[in-house]
Amino acid sequence: MTLLVAQDIGYHINGRWLVQSVSLTLSAGEVVALVGPNGAGKSTLLSLLAGDLPPTSGEIWLEGEPLHRLSALAQAQRRAVLRQQIVVTFPFTALEVALMGRAPHLRGYAESDHDRAIAQEALVQTETASFAARPLPTLSGGEQARVQMARVLAQTTPILLLDEPTAALDLRHQHRVLHLARRAADQGGAALIVLHDVNLAALYANRIGVMHQGALCALGTPWDVLRAELLSDVYGVPVTVQPHPRAATPLVLSLPEDMTGSRYTYVAEAR
Ligand code: ADP
Ligand code: MG
Repeated sequence: MTLLVAQDIGYHINGRWLVQSVSLTLSAGEVVALVGPNGAGKSTLLSLLAGDLPPTSGEIWLEGEPLHRLSALAQAQRRAVLRQQIVVTFPFTALEVALMGRAPHLRGYAESDHDRAIAQEALVQTETASFAARPLPTLSGGEQARVQMARVLAQTTPILLLDEPTAALDLRHQHRVLHLARRAADQGGAALIVLHDVNLAALYANRIGVMHQGALCALGTPWDVLRAELLSDVYGVPVTVQPHPRAATPLVLSLPEDMTGSRYTYVAEAR
């Protein structure tokens, strides 16, 4: 079942196409990772899909309905969004933030025990339950990011749109958060995740899209997309790709453009 369709979408502002002619589908069961250099248009694309920005061209459908015809509430019942920059200055507690995920389901009523149980479970899943009563501004950046992920999970939507959910996280929690997105997809949902770490993308995504200068220049399985030539071109840094020693995925290594003085030279000489 196709949960999200973007057909030929573009976003033009200040004389520039930040996103151009992107077509993408997200099917139930799928995790799609979006990678690409800074400024490639990944967040802009996510904002278009989230309904935060109106596309200049093209059309987006959520569960078969044109996105622009869905109310904000109807959108929030279909997709949950983790935006790249979330600044919480008001001292909501972690549990209150997770409960915000339930807002699209309340229909004007106060939260029920059921809503509180879902929010609490989302805190447990993101390993933030011990912060439940703590005001968000007192948590570390990574801890806050995990609470925001709990809010997204508590929204219990079929579609997850996550913009760099692992950026502030330690190794354990990077895996934890991607595991949770993977599990949501395995249970019949779908996730589109902007990631910088192409190796994490390879481990968790069914398909990887590479954005470059506003365009989706490649979209396919990790082995199709994570090719040395393509990545070296797009990122402007030498890249090698080899089989992962412990997983059935490619492993991407980037090397400094100028090897002089780097430890790479040292290892090469030692051999
Ligand atoms: P990414 O998430 O891939 O790093 P973004 O989608 O945030 O990239 O931004 C894509 C490009 O568009 C960047 O060069 C950014 O500076 C530019 N940009 C983003 N928003 C605007 C805006 N409102 N007006 C002009 N340029 C913008
Ligand atoms: Mg971004």
